[in-house]
Amino acid sequence: MQMYSHSVRLEKEKCIGCTDCIKRCPTEAIRVRGSKAQIIEERCIDCGNCIRICRNGAKKAVTDDWRMLGRFKHRVALPAPSFYAQFPKAKSIEHILNALYAIGFTDVLEVGAAGEVIAEKTYAWLEEATHFPVISSSCPAIVRLIQRRFPSLIHQVLPIISPMELAARYVRECYKKQGASREEVGIFFLSPCPAKATEIRRPKGIKESEVDGVIGMQDIYKKVLPYLNSEGVDKIIRQTSLEGLKWARRTGGLNEVRLKSHLSVDGMDNVIGILEKVEDGTLTEVHYIEALACTGGCLGGALTVENPFVSRCYLQKWMEQDKKEKRVQNTELLEDIAKMPVRYEKSIVPRPVFSLDHDTQKAIEKMQAIEELYTQLPQIDCGSCGAPTCRCFAEDVVRHNAQIEECIFMFRKKVKELSENMHELTQTTLPTADEN
Ligand code: SF4
Ligand code: SF4
Repeated sequence: MQMYSHSVRLEKEKCIGCTDCIKRCPTEAIRVRGSKAQIIEERCIDCGNCIRICRNGAKKAVTDDWRMLGRFKHRVALPAPSFYAQFPKAKSIEHILNALYAIGFTDVLEVGAAGEVIAEKTYAWLEEATHFPVISSSCPAIVRLIQRRFPSLIHQVLPIISPMELAARYVRECYKKQGASREEVGIFFLSPCPAKATEIRRPKGIKESEVDGVIGMQDIYKKVLPYLNSEGVDKIIRQTSLEGLKWARRTGGLNEVRLKSHLSVDGMDNVIGILEKVEDGTLTEVHYIEALACTGGCLGGALTVENPFVSRCYLQKWMEQDKKEKRVQNTELLEDIAKMPVRYEKSIVPRPVFSLDHDTQKAIEKMQAIEELYTQLPQIDCGSCGAPTCRCFAEDVVRHNAQIEECIFMFRKKVKELSENMHELTQTTLPTADEN
């Protein structure tokens, strides 16, 4: 039996079948059937949109349990740069890192440091790339979106692992050198979004992730709060510079000055609009696209605590502080991290969930059937059938995943036709009293 590897789940008892979520799913992965939402697994990219939309809390992110830490002798936290923007009241980033030790971690590596290395590797790749624009691969929801909805663009995805994965690789290697066994070292990413949790279970471009667990920022937030201003900060050595913090921004972690022609896009609808242009071949002048699924970049992730616009302001505060302190890059550490391999070990493959059939002839026939049915539908995308659009509903019917009568308009039409037929029948064939 195949395991459910997604990080977004439905809590059925909380779902009232309101259909709010179906229209906001970028891959048309949600249907409401029998008054309950259903996620079509192969279509879901774990973007977390439906978690934000549902007012009833029926969609939940599945991350790892905090108690998992207890299984390891060495417990290493990998805080994403967006983590710092959740704690504006801390005196410094060192205080936030110190709080991580206070709550049970034995070691911390700031993911921003790995981000600084990935930025350098990306500049290098852009020099040798042959297909432009190159599309960033740090947001796993975007890579999954490309696999499903824009498979023709797969060869343009940057074939470099994420800062999270690089940080974990480096930590694993360090402990290995110290003689610690794999079982003794638990590496935990403190994540702003559910897509990262799926990423460690089903990594793309690599065989296995070195991350053992993903803990949502929301789950750790309250644990950290009481320790934000406690003693011990003098022992903390920061690993990131301003450059590393930039990975939490809406525009991503690269330095615009070093890029020839760069485009940043955030928010799923905007990303889809840009990828459609890339697919049409109208963006060939652009060298690099930084695409992030959440509005506001990682600061807008479904597992963050702060509003993304507010946390952007808090991030700015930490960046200003780093500027004031003239924090420079930790060159020795970055050089060490840069020795780790970062290129994809295997190609990412298309998962064209929108294709109608493997057989081209059958696919054409199904497309014609969908078009034909679509013309009979009201085309107002009301969602009362449980599908996000009328076209999507037509596709569900042709795929035998829905009945035509589930459309309220088609149902009414059918009832009307039936009653007219009945009426006609009574007029023409009922025997009269005189008849023998
Ligand atoms: S938004 Fe979706 S999951 Fe939430 S109650 Fe409505 S139908 Fe159910
Ligand atoms: S997580 Fe995203 S892709 Fe998956 S069902 Fe929710 S909205 Fe759709």
